[in-house]
Amino acid sequence: MNDYDPKIPMLRQMLALSIVNKLDECGFDLLPNPRKDLQLSRPEIAERVYVRTVGDDDRMQVRVYTTVIGGMNGTPFEVRKEGKDAIRVCATYTTRDGKQRGITKETRVNRTGNIDDIVDRMYQRMRSAYKTAHSGERCNKCGAPKFTAKSGNKVCAEICWQTAEQKAKNEAEWKFKNAARRHRRPRYRRW
Ligand SMILES: [Zn+2]
Repeated sequence: MNDYDPKIPMLRQMLALSIVNKLDECGFDLLPNPRKDLQLSRPEIAERVYVRTVGDDDRMQVRVYTTVIGGMNGTPFEVRKEGKDAIRVCATYTTRDGKQRGITKETRVNRTGNIDDIVDRMYQRMRSAYKTAHSGERCNKCGAPKFTAKSGNKVCAEICWQTAEQKAKNEAEWKFKNAARRHRRPRYRRW
């Protein structure tokens, strides 16, 4: 089979179809379009994100950021043109207060080589994220999965050793610091 070439629209569309078919086959569900939800213009440029629950724990999911867009408003159903943004796969945990944490390292699948190989590499990353999330270490106090903190230590995803008060305080500080950083250096935004 020929190599995938992002310059050829038909190949971008074929790759998009192969990605979505594989996710379907593996029992993944498409998340609602975030741009539609936020009532932003041009929902057709939003990347399709697929999720699948890990085991019977609804809070744990494997997520696939597909780079697939379009399929509405006259924009073809295809992967994004440029090879810079890869397909990303990770496992996430939704905490009891509704935050999302990555519990496996995000892995990237570059869209190079032939289409079957790209889809197969994506599948391998999905399997591996699922396995890691499923068999990963759990907090022996509250049962939540552990994730690797900035310190490099494995800690409980619920941060259950802190009181709600401490968490709120840390979060306020973090937001304050981040706001200051945003003022100093304008961040590149895709949209
Ligand atoms: Zn815990």
